[in-house]
Amino acid sequence: MKRILITGGAGFIGSHLAEKLLNEGNDIICLDNFFTGNKDNIRHLIGNNKFELVRHDVIKEYLVEVDEIYNLACPASPIHYQYNPIKTMKTSVMGIINMLGLAKRCRAKILQASTSEVYGDPKIHPQIESYWGNVNPIGIRSCYDEGKRCAESLMMDYYRINKVDIRIGRIFNTYGPRMAINDGRVVSNFILQALKNEPITVYGNGKQTRAFCYVDDMIEALIKLMNSDFIGPVNLGNPNEKTILEIAELIVKLSNSKSEIVYKELPQDDPLQRNPDITLAKEKLGWQPHTDIEYGLKKTIEYFEKKINE
Ligand code: NAD
Ligand code: UDP
Repeated sequence: MKRILITGGAGFIGSHLAEKLLNEGNDIICLDNFFTGNKDNIRHLIGNNKFELVRHDVIKEYLVEVDEIYNLACPASPIHYQYNPIKTMKTSVMGIINMLGLAKRCRAKILQASTSEVYGDPKIHPQIESYWGNVNPIGIRSCYDEGKRCAESLMMDYYRINKVDIRIGRIFNTYGPRMAINDGRVVSNFILQALKNEPITVYGNGKQTRAFCYVDDMIEALIKLMNSDFIGPVNLGNPNEKTILEIAELIVKLSNSKSEIVYKELPQDDPLQRNPDITLAKEKLGWQPHTDIEYGLKKTIEYFEKKINE
């Protein structure tokens, strides 16, 4: 069994990953500064003698002996990563430098949670890994987009120069239980609004698209990527593309809500379309998502229903 470090392990994706890897019999070190993560996400794991929780910030060096590192530490929601954009950039860049240094010293494999945002507002659709993207380098999303692009660049240089064993996964929009209640991303916002019968806030005309992947599928993809011999970058997501308006209508229907849709201003640099081409993931990892969106949304609605009644 392996000793595995998960940075951002108390977050939405990180906590599911920690649970899965722990259940497989591994020793887990969950490192988090609790900026957007929460102890509630991992409370059920605390007390297991194979699970260790460390309050630490990835922008500072952290020394430990591990076999694998999943580097997930970084706020993922636009409102959170734009709250302190300089810190977001430091988290991505100094965080990956510290983690790559650690991987180099203890010869650990390291997986970087990259993002579809490296493609910016893409001119190629669906997005393929060889596309270099269309990112505004000085816009309000650039702290996140450019930070993640810089992290990919550092991953590749440590691979080329220091032979560090890297994996780069480009995660597309992922949703599911344990998204933070104040997360501000579309799925959590719409579900909370629908459950409270409040207006559903569609930004812009709602014709912009995203492709949503259920968290269980994403966890399987991340583990398969780590265990494969493919360094990536590889797109990880569900190619079932929907308009934001379609998502709003589906959530209203599935939660039997009386909410009406209201239109708000589209945030600056909001990508118009996004959909992963997952040919490479299928070929190299033997992975593809299998969770139906209605099933995934129902599970997420159940989670939020419980949360708001706590
Ligand atoms: P999240 O905000 O729930 O999790 C991020 C975690 O990192 C939180 O627990 C947070 O407290 C922690 N963190 C933030 N800054 C830190 C720092 N400086 N030091 C230590 N810990 C820190 O978000 P998530 O959706 O679980 O995303 C996890 C990773 O996946 C992120 O790197 C994100 O960029 C990437 N990703 C997520 C999505 C998605 O749709 N969820 C899409 C693309 C990429
Ligand atoms: N969005 C919306 N209403 C909301 C939150 C988000 O219409 O309450 C839109 C947002 O403008 C974007 C899409 O939903 O076009 C996805 O936004 P999110 O913040 O979830 O993630 P992104 O893919 O933009 O990083």
